[in-house]
Amino acid sequence: MTKAAREAEDPRLRDARRDLPSVSSLLDSGELAALLARCPGRTVTSAARAAVESVRNGSQQAPAGLDGWRDLVDAELESITRASLRPVLNATGVVLHTNLGRAPLPASAIRAIQDVARGFSNLEYDLEAGERGSRYSHCVSLLREITGCEDALVVNNCAAALILAVDTFARDREVIISRGELVEIGGSFRIPDIMRRGGARLVEVGTTNRTHLGDYQDAISDQTGAIIKVHRSNFSISGFTSDVGVDQLAALGKERGVPVVHDLGSGLLIPLDEFGLRGEPTASDALASGSDVVTLSGDKLLGGPQAGIMLGKATVIEKLRANPLARALRVDKLTIAALGATLALYRDPAAALQSIPVLAMLTATPPSLESRARAIAAALLARGVDCSVVPSESSVGGGAFPAAVLQSFAVALRGDAGILELALREAAMPVIGRTKDGQLLLDVRSLQPHEDEPLTTSVTGALS
Ligand SMILES: *Cc1c(COP(=O)(O)O)cnc(C)c1O
Repeated sequence: MTKAAREAEDPRLRDARRDLPSVSSLLDSGELAALLARCPGRTVTSAARAAVESVRNGSQQAPAGLDGWRDLVDAELESITRASLRPVLNATGVVLHTNLGRAPLPASAIRAIQDVARGFSNLEYDLEAGERGSRYSHCVSLLREITGCEDALVVNNCAAALILAVDTFARDREVIISRGELVEIGGSFRIPDIMRRGGARLVEVGTTNRTHLGDYQDAISDQTGAIIKVHRSNFSISGFTSDVGVDQLAALGKERGVPVVHDLGSGLLIPLDEFGLRGEPTASDALASGSDVVTLSGDKLLGGPQAGIMLGKATVIEKLRANPLARALRVDKLTIAALGATLALYRDPAAALQSIPVLAMLTATPPSLESRARAIAAALLARGVDCSVVPSESSVGGGAFPAAVLQSFAVALRGDAGILELALREAAMPVIGRTKDGQLLLDVRSLQPHEDEPLTTSVTGALS
């Protein structure tokens, strides 16, 4: 009997946490051979150390024998080697969930990433001319074709786009913005902070609920670098309100020689009115209002990768491109590949509604969602998971259509919502649901149809 085996068999160890086996005796015992064949020795050693420590500090019970120790080490190994960033199933009903990675990509975008990632590409090489090209050229013609812009620049995200715009037009100068638009978009993103980061002094005009054209007119001086219009995306304001349209600001900017930047945020490219999602301007609408630059996100309603898309007049985009800061905010080839492939789908808008997951999820009809929820519930019931189908209200998320309620259906799991929620979160393929009135709901609106089956498997596994 090895030392570890003797130690592990020792009944005292089962009650007391003293005299735990040493890490080296566990490694020498032979019991961890399978783990050592699977993972590097250093990693198994770390896992063994963590296993012993977890028993020492009482977070785990002392295992009965050596095979118990092996299981404990195996579990530690599993958690050490598991990727930090993992796929999850979004059953929250919030389609564009920033915490869950926003837009899932269309199949063609995933293929494009793979194609480009595998080897070299013409990222900055002009194949026709046989000379150095520009990474900025790749999505421009598609963006022109789809939005009608003169020129475009793609940077890392919409926040970066705003910083670049402010730095380019208003560094050490003033930016005029309505008090009704000094908003927080999420987490660490507040419009006034971004303006200051861009090196501009903020000139706030109007009030929270009302801003008039005269407020902007009065604020323009020889210090003015830009007027910024921020699309009110993640909240709505109603009652005694008024604000100044971009078209009026664009006219004012033109008259006084001040560039107007329109932060659109969500990046809708085709109207969704017929699906009950009204009031959000498309990128083309925004451009038609005459601002100098429109900024939008790639991974919100557009349904592509994280990116900040800047659309506008050629002379203005040229200035942005020439700013050295653009180099620091540049996108990588994987983003360009995915964005290009996603944009290409917009050539056929009807097909885009099917092939771009975000649009497919947002436009899914309640009857189709109900039948999917029923199929999931039937599969769960057949495997002993108590549940029922309930109507549910889902939302767009991602700071778009903040007031929109999308009728949906959910599978309501029976049992303590807190316990269920934890079990699903800890599954190998975590499922993130939504708790409502003490019930854990799994809303199908934010799931893609091909995820229904993995959801069933994951829930059954987690709750059995
Ligand atoms: C979401 C949003 C942003 C930030 O976009 P990111 O791509 O996340 O950086 C900026 N402005 C508005 C109006 C938004 O809705």
